[in-house]
Amino acid sequence: MITINNFVKVKTLAEAYQLNQKRTNVVIGGFMWLKMGNRKIQNAIDLSGLGLNKIEETDDEFRIGSMCTLRDLELHEGLNNECQGALKEAVYHIVGVQFRNGATVGGSIYGRYGFSDVLTCLMVLDCYVELFKGGIISLKEFAKKKYDNDILVRILIKKDSRKVSYQSQRNAKMDFPLIAVAVAKKKNNIFVAVGARPMKAKLIQKSGCLSEQNPSQEEIAEFADWAKGQFSYGSNMRASKEYREYLAYVYIKRGVKEVLKDDH
Ligand SMILES: Cc1cc2nc3c(=O)[nH]c(=O)nc-3n(C[C@H](O)[C@H](O)[C@H](O)COP(=O)(O)OP(=O)(O)OC[C@H]3O[C@@H](n4cnc5c(N)ncnc54)[C@H](O)[C@@H]3O)c2cc1C
Repeated sequence: MITINNFVKVKTLAEAYQLNQKRTNVVIGGFMWLKMGNRKIQNAIDLSGLGLNKIEETDDEFRIGSMCTLRDLELHEGLNNECQGALKEAVYHIVGVQFRNGATVGGSIYGRYGFSDVLTCLMVLDCYVELFKGGIISLKEFAKKKYDNDILVRILIKKDSRKVSYQSQRNAKMDFPLIAVAVAKKKNNIFVAVGARPMKAKLIQKSGCLSEQNPSQEEIAEFADWAKGQFSYGSNMRASKEYREYLAYVYIKRGVKEVLKDDH
């Protein structure tokens, strides 16, 4: 069971940061994950009064406040146009609408969960994390970073017209994914992220790996075989290491075909 002694709705990010330096105090996002745990929280730090529940669109980026919900990502037209619905597909299978109305972007990305659909999908975009103390760093870098007591303020997604595909597989609807694969293409660069291996998502990138014009099925299969080999896989109650590796190959191949679709 989780118990909270005191609930603090902070007025500034500086106040949140200062409170978060104490180990017994905890930032809360949607509280969906935290509530499953077992701990005593002295001060629950609530960021909901800081206006971080908005997705702002400028000429060159989307600025997603950490208190935006997964449902906000799912429904945002501009964002989903930019990534051809990949983000919608990534969050759509997470539990249900009521859950996605609660779970936040901040909690999902800060957590860097090994099963995360959200992290896997965002990784193939030109995506950055804005931290109160740590400033702006790439999501790729953030995913590798040790957990600390910073505050995740926003996620920034640059508009660079890359083509994106997202796929996952579950043993049962609403379960955690047993594999999550995102592929993106920008000019002749291909980006591949594989998550739920069951380790947290990792990104690889390769330039000039496929013929500019109409790459053959064999070329795509060869690339998928190479790409799946760049990740490590493990076994758990959901799937074996071998099955995950095979699925990664299949979904990378499908993802590449998807992002190449209108190229020729
Ligand atoms: C039953 C269940 C099933 C799920 N299934 C899936 C799934 O299939 N796929 C998937 O991708 N995800 C899944 N998730 C994860 C879910 O989508 C969210 O990522 C998760 O609930 C965390 O979001 P939250 O808003 O609830 O965060 P919270 O539980 O409030 O917080 C999570 C962590 O993030 C920290 N935190 C929150 N906000 C910030 C911030 N702004 N700055 C710094 N630290 C912060 C908290 O201190 C805490 O450590 C599942 C979760 C549950 C409970």
